[in-house]
Amino acid sequence: MSIASNISELQQELQPIGVQLVAISKTKPNEDILEAYEAGQRLFGENQVQEMLAKYEELPKDIEWHLVGHLQTNKVKYIAPFVSLIHSVDSLKVLSEINKQALKNNRVIDCLLQVFIADEDTKFGLDHAELIELLRSEEFQEFKNIRIRGLMGIATNTENEKIIKEEFYELKMFFDGIKTTYFRKEVSFDILSMGMSSDYKIAIEQGANMVRLGSTIFGKRVIKHYKAN
Ligand SMILES: *Cc1c(COP(=O)(O)O)cnc(C)c1O
Repeated sequence: MSIASNISELQQELQPIGVQLVAISKTKPNEDILEAYEAGQRLFGENQVQEMLAKYEELPKDIEWHLVGHLQTNKVKYIAPFVSLIHSVDSLKVLSEINKQALKNNRVIDCLLQVFIADEDTKFGLDHAELIELLRSEEFQEFKNIRIRGLMGIATNTENEKIIKEEFYELKMFFDGIKTTYFRKEVSFDILSMGMSSDYKIAIEQGANMVRLGSTIFGKRVIKHYKAN
């Protein structure tokens, strides 16, 4: 299957049910991204700042770049001018820096709060209590240049579908609760980003409206680190 046909099949599956597709292009060359772009794909996700910056500079400017990997405070400035959605906000500190850099660029940056849902301690994300504490903090109320669009989560990497299903179910319940309690008047709090190649169908069943797919579109990743061309 070609990248272009993968995109069109996925779009035929996802568009009618209102699920947005983010094509995760990490480690993939520009020509692969362009093939997806020619097939109509506009949302692309990367997990590293330097790689996203290099690709942003070389590729068409109507691509919407999503950052899905862990973001260090000192790197926010590189992506602040152009990033379309940051999925991986996991602290008040990084959110404060995003707000500061967004102000410098005279824009509002859309963000998702990453929730820790997996049964592993290696993954990033806020737990429920930390996320609520962040939303209740005085500092958070002051941020004028960020907009929280919703939540993101990564399920445990397991073959056990029951575990994955429970984790996504729990995140959807948490999303609904947070929306009612903290964002009732904000219609823009509307994104639940969950599901990757191996588990996106389960994620959609459980209420995801944004999925992040890499290998399903581009094939297996053979290299771990991107080389600028
Ligand atoms: C790499 C990555 C994906 C896509 O993974 P695939 O299994 O290739 O679909 C999705 N989300 C995040 C956060 C990633 O780092």
